[in-house]
Formats: sequence, C-alpha cells, structure tokens
Amino acid sequence: MLKLIDVETCYGNIRALKGISLNVAEGEIVSLIGANGAGKTTTLMTISGLVPISSGQIFFNNKRIEKTDPDKIVAAGISQAPEGRRIFPGLSVLENLEMGAFLRADQREIRKDMDYIFDLFPLLNKRRHQAGGTLSGGEQQMLAISRALMARPKLLLLDEPSLGLSPLMTNQIFEMIKKINSEQHMTIFLVEQNAYLALKLSHRGYVMENGFITLEGQAAALLTDNNVKKAYLGI
Ligand code: ATP
Repeated sequence: MLKLIDVETCYGNIRALKGISLNVAEGEIVSLIGANGAGKTTTLMTISGLVPISSGQIFFNNKRIEKTDPDKIVAAGISQAPEGRRIFPGLSVLENLEMGAFLRADQREIRKDMDYIFDLFPLLNKRRHQAGGTLSGGEQQMLAISRALMARPKLLLLDEPSLGLSPLMTNQIFEMIKKINSEQHMTIFLVEQNAYLALKLSHRGYVMENGFITLEGQAAALLTDNNVKKAYLGI
C-alpha cells in the first residue's frame, strides 16, 4: 500500500532522512522505532507532504505522491495523528471530530463513524461538548487518533501515541489501536520511542538511526534481536 524508495529529506543543511526505503502492506501494523532525533517524525511528515522531500519516491496504492499537496494526500486516504496531539484546544470534542471529516460530504457515514469512535472511546462521548484543550493527555491522544479516523483513511499514521502518557493510559491506547486494525482492517504505520510496546503491537518493524533504516523484520524477531534488546529494550 505504501512504499518509500530512497527517500531523502533535508532541513536546510541537515539531512534528516538519508535515503530510506520501507513498505507497508494493506492490513498491517508496521512500526518505526528509534531514538530521539533519529528521523521518525520527519518520515511521517514527508509521507504526509508536510515537509518537502529532497529526493526519492513515495508510492501510495501504486501512485506517486511525493510531490502531492497535503490535502490531496488526505483525500487519497492517508491520515496522520501528529506527535504532541495538536488537537484544536478551543473546539469541543465533537467539533474536533467534525474537522477530521472536513473533506467528506457523506453525512450519514460521518455519523456512523462518529458512533464507532464513541463506542471505541466512551470517555470522548462523555466529554463530547467539552473543549479539547481541557481534556487530559490520554483523552487528547484518543481525540487525535479519532480525528484522524474521521477522514476514513486507508492508511493511518500515528506519531508517538504513548508520548507523555501513563503506562495505564498507554496500554489502553495501544489496545484501541489493535482493535482499529482488527475491526476496521485499518492499515497502520506507527512511530514510537517505546520500542517494546510498538513491536508487541506490530506485525513488522523498522529500526531507524541517525536518518538511516538500520534493521527491519518481523516484529517478533526484532523483539528477540540482541542489538534491539540492548539499544531499545534495555535488556
Ligand atoms: P523525536 O522522537 O525526538 O521526535 P525523531 O526520530 O522523530 O525524534 P525528527 O524529529 O524527525 O526525529 O528529527 C530528525 C532530525 O531532524 C533531528 O536531527 C532534528 O534535530 C532535525 N529536525 C527536525 N525538525 C526540524 C526542523 N523543523 N528544522 C531543522 N531541523 C529539524
């Protein structure tokens, strides 16, 4: 479904991505793990068209998208829940969700998707009229994922869903990500510093270091890889 070939992205003189190649197949959860500053967020921003690519190719369902505008990428079926959540703090939960569906006109289906989200995250239902900015960190993360889902994407990009959350809340969010993948057959590309949780949840994984992909494989194999264990799992 998604294929990156030799992608380079620069911020001025800084080469954040140094020629990375990866792919995500339909129905998979694939994680990209790595330390702070490795280039994980830049990878997602490049896919979403929010940061310009310097060279390389990105295919989504066999179409080149690396020069496509961000709104067209959303319309094509890629939706991102960004790091730090970035919900609209002054808008209510309902309004935030409506914003996620801004490219859609199918009101009945939008309502259905909202009902699904409120089933998935009953807490959001309870707080539907509350301003996004007054939600807890975990609730804001739920809202960010839900807002991305409201675009009814084919591919969901998640940037550090565990960031700043308690272990309990992180587990809840990861359970929901698993559910969205299995119930909605949603394809998910997940960027995480919490390598253990990400690999536990995923089918496959990539390890990123200093702008390069240094390792890839089945998530179960990466979890037992000695280098991964030492560098990212603290064992
Ligand atoms: P983190 O987990 O801390 O978000 P990351 O793996 O997502 O890290 P990126 O945020 O993609 O890493 O950063 C990759 C490199 O690009 C880093 O060296 C970072 O300092 C640099 N970088 C990121 N954003 C910018 C920017 N807007 N301007 C200049 N350099 C940037």
